[in-house]
Amino acid sequence: MTNFIELGLTKLTAAALEEVAYLEPTEIQAKTIPLILAGQDVMASAQTGSGKTAAFVLPIIELLKARDKQPRALVVVPTRELALQVEEQFKKLAKHSRLRSVTLYGGTGYHRQTNLLQRGVDVIVATPGRLLDCFERKLVDLSAIQILILDEADRLLDMGFMPQIRRVIASLPKERQTVMFSATFDPPVLQIAKEYQVNPTTVRINTKQVEPTDIDQRMYHVNEFAKDALLLKLIRENEMSSVLVFTKTRRKATWVTDRLRDSNIQAEEIHSDISQGQRERTLARYREGLFPVLVATDVAARGLDIPSISHVINYDLPESPADYVHRIGRTGRAGRSGVAFSFVGEGQKSLVRDIERLIGRTVDPESNVRRVLPARRMKLSGRRRP
Ligand code: ADP
Ligand code: MG
Repeated sequence: MTNFIELGLTKLTAAALEEVAYLEPTEIQAKTIPLILAGQDVMASAQTGSGKTAAFVLPIIELLKARDKQPRALVVVPTRELALQVEEQFKKLAKHSRLRSVTLYGGTGYHRQTNLLQRGVDVIVATPGRLLDCFERKLVDLSAIQILILDEADRLLDMGFMPQIRRVIASLPKERQTVMFSATFDPPVLQIAKEYQVNPTTVRINTKQVEPTDIDQRMYHVNEFAKDALLLKLIRENEMSSVLVFTKTRRKATWVTDRLRDSNIQAEEIHSDISQGQRERTLARYREGLFPVLVATDVAARGLDIPSISHVINYDLPESPADYVHRIGRTGRAGRSGVAFSFVGEGQKSLVRDIERLIGRTVDPESNVRRVLPARRMKLSGRRRP
């Protein structure tokens, strides 16, 4: 069993680990931290919840050591939520250093972000759009960046951010370290690695096991009109105190939130129609356990790290099996157990089969049943696997 010091971190960096109660490195941390500290380019993948954030945040703190005039580390992430989460992790872990950070993301004014930039920062955590914006307006100086991190690289690609990222990378110093984290090593991700990395070392953990381990997954076949009643029933019967409900659209999220409130269950919604400030406040209150149900679209499917989430409910299934894995990964964080319920609507059987193929096991009760009487599938209560 290794400890953080053996990975090459100094006591100063390691001191903050006690306060966050990281007793020992996770596997991905044990494998990547020494490589990053040695200045290598790294291409890493590991399942969600495996501690990838600290795997790059800790070496950044160690490598930068003390304050300097210009920013030296740049972390690019696909969403605002993720940017805030990475920065929060950085603030906690960099507590004993004097390093400063800024988070650049859109949907909010420039004032605060540029103020921080002007005062001087060592680390920039940014979403691609706002980063490029700040760069083109000459609000940010990237001429001294030593280390570039692309977190959730596959998602950055999926979301079409590569053109913006390319423009930013083009202006970074050539003499730099480039580290990528990605859920998959698909050809487009490998292509980016090929373009921007020099002799990268590949680290891949648990590739077979794409789903987080300790999550009890159940599926319910239910008609659209019966979903609200089933949702209420599940929340009440299981006395859920921290549940994340996913819907397909923003309108559905609002609808579900209203129905829950009608039934005296405290619920809040987050999606892209809600202002950034409001989203942050809602997340902070949810994190503190001030209300039990958070209803969200896929904005919350990745990266959101709230260890207390005990249940994820897919009110609507996501469009892709990969998103299913990301969504349910919001529960069962850092070795805890979690439960994921999914509502399977009409015509979604093949999607369910694809999900089962991806996670390598059956979770749908009907998967083991040859013939299902259509009338029985309408039943409100759904069916659990025995
Ligand atoms: P990922 O990016 O791989 O999905 P995160 O970096 O968000 O995962 O980490 C998941 C959770 O694990 C967080 O709550 C984080 O604080 C916790 N964590 C990370 N590293 C450790 C560690 N070494 N020991 C204990 N908990 C850890
Ligand atoms: Mg992550």
